Amino acid sequence: MFNLSNHPHRRYNPLNREWVLVSPHRTQRPWQGQVEQTPPERRPAYDPTCYLCPGNERAGGERNPNYEHTFVFTNDFAALLLDTPEGEFTRAAGDTPGEMPLLHAVSERGTSRVVCFSPRHDLTLAEMDLAALTMVVDVWVAQYNDLGAQPPINYVQIFENRGAMMGASNPHPHGQIWATEHLPLNVAREQDAQTEYYATNDRTLLSDYLELEMKDGARIVCANDHFVALVPFWAVWPFETLVISRPRCCARRLCASLWLASRCWPNPSAISPPKPPPNDCDLNPRHTTAVGSRQEAVSSSKCTVLH
Ligand SMILES: [Zn+2]
Repeated sequence: MFNLSNHPHRRYNPLNREWVLVSPHRTQRPWQGQVEQTPPERRPAYDPTCYLCPGNERAGGERNPNYEHTFVFTNDFAALLLDTPEGEFTRAAGDTPGEMPLLHAVSERGTSRVVCFSPRHDLTLAEMDLAALTMVVDVWVAQYNDLGAQPPINYVQIFENRGAMMGASNPHPHGQIWATEHLPLNVAREQDAQTEYYATNDRTLLSDYLELEMKDGARIVCANDHFVALVPFWAVWPFETLVISRPRCCARRLCASLWLASRCWPNPSAISPPKPPPNDCDLNPRHTTAVGSRQEAVSSSKCTVLH
């Protein structure tokens, strides 16, 4: 009889509508490949050669202020620029009018900012105290609102790539914000899937999924009154988690929820069994679609807050 724990199968990701191949029996095989070592790093509180430490000169020649909490600046090597001229390039194989171009490029406006979480070179987010963490969330919310209000911007993504293995170019505790003119492909797909699910079921996809997972319990990592972190049924990566907000809300209210949650940490309920999701949802589907398609949620590469 088919057994999810032993037999190869495909799992459906209802957010991006793709199937993931799962081979649970492969975890039994012997592993003689590479094993990564934890870096034995002991960093100083201040590094005179670090381009993110307070008072130091950055690679682009600018000097950081002597900041005491968080510090935000436009990336000196920003992947996106607000003053990019609008334009399009197309080239088809033949010269038939209306022929589909095989080469197609469209200009993209936007900006990239860097958020130094702390002036201390030797900390990570997890090692910062509650007051300092709260300031980081305040900055995320303010940046989200500021960038989202700028005319060409239709999507704001806040994320952290931590560690050299993940491509972080500097060990100083920092994250990034990318603001773009268009929704990224995966976000647009997830938005479409959630909008369609709502139109069909009159309920939101993620609140239904969360309810299923809370009943099962096997994939819940942790939960409090505001958020639940879980390993999605369709996870691809070894440590993939999905963070779902418990209040059903649009992206702007999610931002407020994140801000509120930062003021409740540490909360005894964070380690006690989570309460059921609230029933006082004032979700307005038109509002959700309009705001949700303009600005999505706070996310990192594989740890996503969505609603
Ligand atoms: Zn530093």
